[in-house]
Amino acid sequence: MTRSPVWHPFTQHALEPTMKKVVGTEGAYLIDEAGNRILDAISSWWVVTHGHRHPTIMEAIRTATECYDQIIFAEYTHAPAEDLARGLIAVSPAGLEHVFYSDSGSTAVEVALKMALGFFHNTGRRRDRIVVMEHGYHGDTIGTMSVGERGVFNAAYEPLLFGVDRLAFPEPGTEQSTLDAFELTCRSGRVAALLIEPLVLGAGGMKMYEPSLLGELSKIAQSHGVLLIADEVMTGWGRTGTLFASEQAGICPDILCTSKGLTGGTLPLAATLCTSEIFDAHLSTDRRKTFFHSSSYTANPIACAAAVANLKIWSQEPVQARIDRLVALQGTRLARFAEDRRFRNVRQSGTIAALDMAVPSDGYLADIGPRLRAFFRERQLLIRPLGNVIYLMPPYCVSEAESDRLYDAIDEAASVLIGTPA
Ligand SMILES: *Cc1c(COP(=O)(O)O)cnc(C)c1O
Repeated sequence: MTRSPVWHPFTQHALEPTMKKVVGTEGAYLIDEAGNRILDAISSWWVVTHGHRHPTIMEAIRTATECYDQIIFAEYTHAPAEDLARGLIAVSPAGLEHVFYSDSGSTAVEVALKMALGFFHNTGRRRDRIVVMEHGYHGDTIGTMSVGERGVFNAAYEPLLFGVDRLAFPEPGTEQSTLDAFELTCRSGRVAALLIEPLVLGAGGMKMYEPSLLGELSKIAQSHGVLLIADEVMTGWGRTGTLFASEQAGICPDILCTSKGLTGGTLPLAATLCTSEIFDAHLSTDRRKTFFHSSSYTANPIACAAAVANLKIWSQEPVQARIDRLVALQGTRLARFAEDRRFRNVRQSGTIAALDMAVPSDGYLADIGPRLRAFFRERQLLIRPLGNVIYLMPPYCVSEAESDRLYDAIDEAASVLIGTPA
């Protein structure tokens, strides 16, 4: 077989020379060319919410292609973008009143940072520092790497990354010191925004913290005039048990980023929502105050139609009940590992379950990672541990029996790969 010219993401081709070819998807499954049904326990990198190819969304995409392809989004608008913006505002935390479209989570965050800096620039205030949380992940562009955790992923690009202020992750018992550090940083008067993943730091290792902490951070930000940017790219669309994770902390972020589940996992689309205050700071007859940002495919009508269909599913189908069922299911299945010494930090936030395998070396490049991945792959399960962190984030249609297969495989993987500790 000749070698493929395709360069895959986050892939070391020297160690993984061939890819499995997928010929179709259905519900919680990928179907490969040999006819194997692979259980997608990570929702194809966290994008698929209801299940692959939900008929309502696929139908909306087909219908949209009868009218639209791409339409320039300056000077012109279209119904899918208008309907989606109104629908998003209706289901988002109070105070978010404007919607800016782009096409990925990374661009949604870049837009958020530019909105925050533009807000202070246009109102004549010198605030340009961004505060983030340790272990955060916000994307892989130069800007979003700058605000994310530094490490092996971005060592080569370090010279191009800009500096930010980092808060220690609030491990249980250290919450107050994280809050104190934030308060102190805000006192400089130079902080424009706190950028944070609400409740769960995803790619940084499924690290979870309490909603109350997010509430406290929001209060501090507010008292210092610091904007709160909620990066809900992963946590949005029900992952943590509520449509947006911010709801659980009762906070109203100034800016909210959404992407992955926005189209139910069908087409690339992102939205950055903001308050009127931020929009109005860019509203002027002085053209220098324009928000200078665009992607060629901004507000692609077909992707917007898919997202409108997703909103329709949320309003017409018992999505919340399905999520509640999955939250309970993850809870009962995860419980068997709570006292198991082969694992540490057994944890859950809504539909996301995570546990760390107790191995001497951890971190993303821990040897156990690829071995676990191969173990699961042999069993037709798509589970990609983050180093020694195993997590399950399945689509909401996953059944009890499918869930049992996942947890039994994790149990067996621990027995085979690390044995039983003394
Ligand atoms: C995935 C992710 C991003 C980046 O999204 P892309 O669509 O991959 O660019 C940003 N923030 C968070 C929290 C994410 O999980």
